[in-house]
Amino acid sequence: PNSNVAFIGLGQMGTRMVNNLIKHGKQPRVYDVVPSAVSSIKGAIPRSSAEEAADGANIIITMLPNGQIVKDTVIGEKGILKKIGKNSLLLDSSTTGPQVARELYQAAKESSVRFLDAPVSGGVVGAQAGTLCFMVGGDEGDCKEVEPVLLHMGAKVLFCGDSGAGQITKLCNNLILGVTMIGTAEAMNLGVKLGLDPKLLSDVVNISTGRSWSSDTYNPVPGVMENVPSAKNYDGGFSVELIAKDLGLAGDAALSISAPVPLAAMSHQLFRTMIAYGLGKKDFSVIYKFLEGKAVD
Ligand code: NAD
Repeated sequence: PNSNVAFIGLGQMGTRMVNNLIKHGKQPRVYDVVPSAVSSIKGAIPRSSAEEAADGANIIITMLPNGQIVKDTVIGEKGILKKIGKNSLLLDSSTTGPQVARELYQAAKESSVRFLDAPVSGGVVGAQAGTLCFMVGGDEGDCKEVEPVLLHMGAKVLFCGDSGAGQITKLCNNLILGVTMIGTAEAMNLGVKLGLDPKLLSDVVNISTGRSWSSDTYNPVPGVMENVPSAKNYDGGFSVELIAKDLGLAGDAALSISAPVPLAAMSHQLFRTMIAYGLGKKDFSVIYKFLEGKAVD
């Protein structure tokens, strides 16, 4: 479609997503608080504020760290909502939880702007390859309309239900992700300390019942896989701070309906402990090093 796309938030995910938009012939207007993140993208239109990026765009995508930052960006003092043309589509791909999504949906509606929550899974590997899965909440017609643009960055667009449903889906997924990463790291550490070769152990797990994305695509043990954070001193990827945020959001959502989430709670506390040990900016697979008891630079 004939769309002017704006993209706000050029971090681990955003940069890769924007590069895929550019590959598909789009020329997005881009903004990040870090100027070098803006200037390093070739083929985009650099903007010096979120407001400037949003001005004149009819599809605005945000990919920011957390719900508070998304809210400040959209409805804060310098919020972009005022700059967004009527009937334009604002789409948040950050993981913020259902409450923030519903709040923004309502605020957007009052300004005659359409809002979708559209968090993603696939990690930086999926963002790079353009194979992300978008989980969308809001109005189904809006989802259908924006789908061709999302498919420039992802392989799947799944409509999950009313506003907030995309976020709920994402939190459930990341609950499993946090728990399987810890389980994988725990078992790998045990096996290695008992004398097993980590590659062999992974090969066996990956054709057995212990297999998960955490073991077969994002293995936390250095040397088992290439092109994953564990091969790069746990730099880049999906930070401990972000998985801790998501497990906290899952806990909040669970509390609101009194659903028990014992492993989410324990995983949340483990990742929070790692933040206290200075590992917050590292990729979350660094849990392996944490359990091994070795320091990471
Ligand atoms: P990131 O921290 O790498 O990137 C966030 C970017 O937002 C940074 O470049 C930062 O400078 C920028 N930013 C912060 N405040 C801003 C502001 N006020 N205005 C403009 N830019 C601002 O995070 P990420 O890993 O790219 O994740 C982004 C979101 O996607 C998070 O909600 C995360 O939970 C979710 N997510 C991450 C992954 C992953 O594997 N990294 C996967 C799926 C979903």
